[in-house]
Amino acid sequence: MGDPLSTTTTTEEKIHGLALSSDDIKGFVSNACEPMYRAPQIQDWIFKKRINHPDQMTNLGKALREKLKEAFDWSLPAVDSSIEGADGSTKLLFHSKRGFVESVILRYKNRTSLCVSSQVGCKLACSFCQTGKLGFMRHLTAAEILGQFAIADAMVRPEGRSISHIVFMGMGEPLDNFEPVITAVNRLTQPEYYGLSRKNVTISTSGIVPRILELPARTNAALAVSLHAATDELRSELMPINRKWNLASLKEALLHYQKTTGDKITLEYIMIKDKNCGIREAKALIKFIHGLRVKVNLIPFNAHPGLDYQRPDDEEIRAFQKYLTERSVPAPVRYSKGLDVSAACGQLAAKQFDMLDQVPVRKSLITPVNLNAFSQSAAETMRAE
Ligand code: SAH
Ligand code: SF4
Repeated sequence: MGDPLSTTTTTEEKIHGLALSSDDIKGFVSNACEPMYRAPQIQDWIFKKRINHPDQMTNLGKALREKLKEAFDWSLPAVDSSIEGADGSTKLLFHSKRGFVESVILRYKNRTSLCVSSQVGCKLACSFCQTGKLGFMRHLTAAEILGQFAIADAMVRPEGRSISHIVFMGMGEPLDNFEPVITAVNRLTQPEYYGLSRKNVTISTSGIVPRILELPARTNAALAVSLHAATDELRSELMPINRKWNLASLKEALLHYQKTTGDKITLEYIMIKDKNCGIREAKALIKFIHGLRVKVNLIPFNAHPGLDYQRPDDEEIRAFQKYLTERSVPAPVRYSKGLDVSAACGQLAAKQFDMLDQVPVRKSLITPVNLNAFSQSAAETMRAE
């Protein structure tokens, strides 16, 4: 039986080297009339040694390397610019057809995380999100998602690091780009491919209910849900997707997910002053959580130009947190390390679309700024416990 993830297509386009399945590789070796032991060698170079080009696959003969180059696409996304954060993060901006996407490398003592994008822009127009303001340009392919990983990993290798954790919290709604995201996630987690721990790869969604229901059958990655409000009225105001799939349907999907996988779910809750972080909202959140096994990440809002929202003060944040923890709901506050808000979700790319004018983009580096605070916070919380 063929690999259900096989990327073989009947179109003229070449399959990308990073998205190759075992069957694709075996098919290539067989067509090239090479001995079959070459197939696991090639797979090993790409996924275990994390080598992104046949020229570096030194135990293959030159002729075979040439055939590999010819048969598949080995291009990687081009890095337009990057910014180094004072807090050990690096924000990468990639050129892509019809726009730009961003990834963020987050360095910790014992691990290195990457926040990746799944789309250029996003259709879902959440009122607090800069990516949402860009609108939707296009879906990324599985290879473009894996390309962000490949480039970031190659960047950190000289530091003695490798990317060990991935969060889909950059631009875009991963479950709106389902098949490519599933392919990318499975290449990342399955032992015969990159083989990252399944708990270290997290899909974050705004709540596309039918896809959440499908997820357990398609991948075993971790799930984070951007909740941000626990009444339909407020959530629909902040996140228009709630008008399509309301809280009741979302909860049903999460119960199903939890029953099927046994996994704890992370709920992300941005805290917006005078909007969603009073005791009334905390009560609604407790009601929503009832019956679920969750952790709630409280993420103080990153302000950005063009939006009136603000971050609540520390006292309000603490009161909200206390209300949850007193009711046995783990609710860590993920403080931003800095308030360089221009680096929040979608903002670096937004600059390239000439939609904003306050982003400190430097061609080929580097000013110490605190980057992408929300991604850092979110990634921190995804750590396997
Ligand atoms: N579309 C997916 C994943 C990308 S957004 C989702 O919505 O989950 C990743 C996270 O960043 C989400 O939780 C999103 O709500 C959050 N985010 C967006 N704008 C933000 C801001 N200004 N401040 C803090 N978090 C923000
Ligand atoms: Fe899209 Fe997520 Fe931003 Fe909402 S928060 S607009 S779903 S990227």
